[in-house]
Amino acid sequence: MGPDLSPASAFWHLVRRDPQATSIVDERTAHTSAEVQRAASDLAVRLLADGVRPGDRVAFAGRNSAAFLVTLLGAACVGAVFVPVSFRLAPAEVRTLLGHCDPHTVVVDSELAAAYARLVADHAHRNWLDARIAMPLADPTGAERSGDLEPVRLSADDLAVIMYTSGTSGTPKGVMLTHGNLWWSARNIDQVLDTRDDDVALAVAPMSHIGGLNAFTLRTLLRGGTVLSRRAFDAARTLTDLSAGVTCLFGVPAMFAAIARCPGFATADLSGVRAATIAGSAAPPSLLRAYVERGLHLQQSWGMTETAPSATYLPRRWTVEKAGSCGLPLPWTDIRLDDPATGASVTIPGAPGEIVVRGPHVTPGYWRAPELTRAATTPDGWLRTGDLAVRDEDGCLTVVGRLTQMINTGGEKVFPCEVERALSELLGPDVHDLAVLGLPDPEWGETVVAVLETTGACPPLDQVRELAARAIARFKLPTRVVAVAELPRNATGKIDRAALRALVESTPECPRVER
Ligand code: ATP
Ligand code: MG
Repeated sequence: MGPDLSPASAFWHLVRRDPQATSIVDERTAHTSAEVQRAASDLAVRLLADGVRPGDRVAFAGRNSAAFLVTLLGAACVGAVFVPVSFRLAPAEVRTLLGHCDPHTVVVDSELAAAYARLVADHAHRNWLDARIAMPLADPTGAERSGDLEPVRLSADDLAVIMYTSGTSGTPKGVMLTHGNLWWSARNIDQVLDTRDDDVALAVAPMSHIGGLNAFTLRTLLRGGTVLSRRAFDAARTLTDLSAGVTCLFGVPAMFAAIARCPGFATADLSGVRAATIAGSAAPPSLLRAYVERGLHLQQSWGMTETAPSATYLPRRWTVEKAGSCGLPLPWTDIRLDDPATGASVTIPGAPGEIVVRGPHVTPGYWRAPELTRAATTPDGWLRTGDLAVRDEDGCLTVVGRLTQMINTGGEKVFPCEVERALSELLGPDVHDLAVLGLPDPEWGETVVAVLETTGACPPLDQVRELAARAIARFKLPTRVVAVAELPRNATGKIDRAALRALVESTPECPRVER
């Protein structure tokens, strides 16, 4: 048997070293490592008594909290597989998810009790627990405890988590992540970012997404630092957090953009943050520049739930110079660009190919979906990602889009990402965000449409096209601009392109030009 990679064992070890360390600050309540261990151990005892066995699934539904992490540790303590459930999912979506991962126990944030009432009744065969059981503020009985449970040993290949993808391209997939996957992902990050044992990680992105959980939160908890857990994202409060002791965080571009619009941003000192990863989608260069001016290098990373999450990162020296690129593969990550038609490896700089990836942090496959796993695996065992990228002379990758989002306009291929990047100079106080998609066109098959999220004046189509024409070919220019008050987003904050398509199709006619 290989080394014990149980996060519970790692945490117990830490408690022996420093029982008074502040492990989790949940909103305003601080919990020492000894308190967190006690809560996780008590939960594990309860899970065992309720009949949970190694390999059973234990789900947690709720917002970021100490209870979330305690449930993860308690589940690991008994060798159960942890399944985070996004609090943003509708009960009908949660029903599908529970049917798929079939958890023995579901720990639920009290806030969701009313919304879940019907679900609980229909899934009465499952063991439902209130999240307060996972993180009691104080033991009301004051009873003597018989000491903490010893975690079961877990090896690199044991399943740690089933994490559902964002569902951007269809139904969310249940990605299996092993303890080895989580461990190597953390080592990859530690190797290239300025992380330390005493980090203060801001957990403001949902921990039910791999970026919110494993980019910094879990590694900081297990290495002896402090997790500052925020239940909801509030731009102004996050700005305050970033100026007041936080040293590392993960966020998506929409989140960092909202912070940059706060009045206090122009004078904020963010230089205390040593490691900040921005991922989930490509960050506009203007956003990266704005943060560098405030002393913070947001490091663009590319990754996916399947890679737990980061697979590349852009070194600090290139934050501005190569803005738009997601950088180099991480140390324990192999990346190849494959021609999607032939499968041959693309080696010419600037030529697009599908990112295929291999490494100890890459998933062994999808839960109870062998056909999906097979379809996502190359003949030589690498993971097909469905993302297209180009590589420059330095080996840096730039994602150009998803294979499934390619717009075919008169036989010419256009990727929303490249048009979005070309339009990113429009972003500012009036235009908060933008997205590009292809809509049916009688003459060209599909045509390129730009959708702007704006509360102010919408720039005219001519101006939008003129700006984009500086960076991209004429056939890629939007033929129509649509203004919306808010771009629809999915549970992880990404643009929900199916909902966006429906929204655009239902908006009144806008001025358009011929391609
Ligand atoms: P689903 O797999 O259900 O369609 P999803 O792929 O959006 O959902 P995630 O695993 O959360 O679910 O997201 C991973 C994807 O996010 C990547 O495959 C890629 O398309 C996109 N992405 C992540 N980082 C970047 C980046 N730096 N630039 C562009 N796209 C990115
Ligand atoms: Mg995906």
